[in-house]
Amino acid sequence: MTLKNRLSKLEKTKRGITAEAECICFPPEEPPRVELRAEKEAVAAVSCPIHGKRFKHFADTVYRAIRVPTHLAPHWRTCHSPQYVKAMDASFPPDRWPATKIVEPDGAVRFVLKDGTEIQRMAPPPEILKYEPLTDWGRPSGTVQ
Ligand SMILES: [Zn+2]
Repeated sequence: MTLKNRLSKLEKTKRGITAEAECICFPPEEPPRVELRAEKEAVAAVSCPIHGKRFKHFADTVYRAIRVPTHLAPHWRTCHSPQYVKAMDASFPPDRWPATKIVEPDGAVRFVLKDGTEIQRMAPPPEILKYEPLTDWGRPSGTVQ
């Protein structure tokens, strides 16, 4: 192998490492797992400077009540690869994200982005209209037993 060939090979390797460092794609085996529409739009809006589109599809999720948007939940950082964490961090530009949790006087909870966009609203807890102690049998007192 001539010196020219070795240099060429070394440059290709260096370019590959540089491209890998700039890549913000999701790993193919770890598609983005976000649930709110605003989060999905944010993730889809960002392109990788090397590869363009960063993923093929979102991860399947099971419907659930969302108490905390995924981007604010701390647990996903510890159960995914460093490349996934890097891709997620690139998905939420700091000029708009993260959302701020606002608790209204009536108990309703809203998550609002820095530009004022509301991405999640949870209704206030149901009002307890009447408190009535239960008997030993689990029926409200004063009822026929
Ligand atoms: Zn990429």
